[in-house]
Amino acid sequence: MERTITQFHLDDEGHWVAHLSCGHARHVRHNPPSQTRPWVLSPEGRAAHLHTPISCGLCKRLEMPAGFIPFKKTQEFNEDSIPLEMRTGHETPPATWARIHVTQGRLGYRILEPLNRNFLLDAANPGTVAPESPHYVTPMGPVCFYVEFFRAPGL
Ligand SMILES: [Zn+2]
Repeated sequence: MERTITQFHLDDEGHWVAHLSCGHARHVRHNPPSQTRPWVLSPEGRAAHLHTPISCGLCKRLEMPAGFIPFKKTQEFNEDSIPLEMRTGHETPPATWARIHVTQGRLGYRILEPLNRNFLLDAANPGTVAPESPHYVTPMGPVCFYVEFFRAPGL
């Protein structure tokens, strides 16, 4: 899934790490001949790569960034009270992840981009929502659920 680079930092071993708009971090090493990114060694090179797209495999696998903490919860919804935007398609903001917790019944969860996948959620199978990823839910009969939002600590 395409994300953008928001900042860089040096890890303990002197390798550059890019922070992505989803909250994940990825090494961007210059380690020739296997990895050639001479640009990462200069401040100008790094500045030129800020806000450029980079693909994120962790987002594709719906892995929430390590250390993200819950900061907000919706009320509990049922099949009649699901907000319209949840039924028709919406997305969470950059770097905001979410979990859909079903407490009773079953809920269809469809991710439109980038996965184009369907999930069936129930009490044992929560749904993970990646940032900026259009999705919607469909009640499969009577259902109760709420959504919990996560972000990086210290925001
Ligand atoms: Zn990611």
